Amino acid sequence: MHIIIFGAPGVGKGTQAKILSEKLNIRHISTGDILREAVKNQTELGMKAKSIVENGKLVPDDIMALLIKEAVTSKDSSNGFILDGFPRTLNQAQILEPILEEIGINDLIFIQIKADDDKIIERLSGRRVCSNCNFIANIKLLKDQNRCPNCGLENTFVKRKDDDEEVVKRRLEVYNSTTLPVLEFYKGKVSLIVVDGMKSIDTVSNQIMQELDSIGN
Ligand SMILES: [Zn+2]
Repeated sequence: MHIIIFGAPGVGKGTQAKILSEKLNIRHISTGDILREAVKNQTELGMKAKSIVENGKLVPDDIMALLIKEAVTSKDSSNGFILDGFPRTLNQAQILEPILEEIGINDLIFIQIKADDDKIIERLSGRRVCSNCNFIANIKLLKDQNRCPNCGLENTFVKRKDDDEEVVKRRLEVYNSTTLPVLEFYKGKVSLIVVDGMKSIDTVSNQIMQELDSIGN
């Protein structure tokens, strides 16, 4: 099974990708992870990407696409993959298409996790990271808002810069203007699953599994 998972920041993409990867026994390919891996393993592409990042620039789409190509053609992906974080622009989608074609992937499934901007902002405004154990929690969902449910310590929660309301709003703007066109690119070309990302983690993943089932049949 070959899946692209897609959605705005804060919608739970990474969480769902991880769950699906386990349930379906397919590889979770996150762009952040493969980039870090390539740098760590000092591959040719990794070294190239490293020097670009060290110069304060973004890794260009063509290098990122080659890293994706390495990942999707590796043995770990022989059972399938779920792509998380790519493509996030129309240009990236256009670069990815011939790569997947070349390796004979013609059963791509596109999963969009949907949510309204204001609900995402509301959800992220409650997100905190435990400075002791790095556990991520939404304090709005906790009985004791000062105690980390993972390590049990009190007053360890900090708010990440990324979750600041103004930062979130800007990221959503970028998503809406730059990333959302990717959805239009795939509409009508591949199987499309749309789920409501504001439901509970279990509800979302169960719904995705059901829809995947009905595509398979
Ligand atoms: Zn903790």
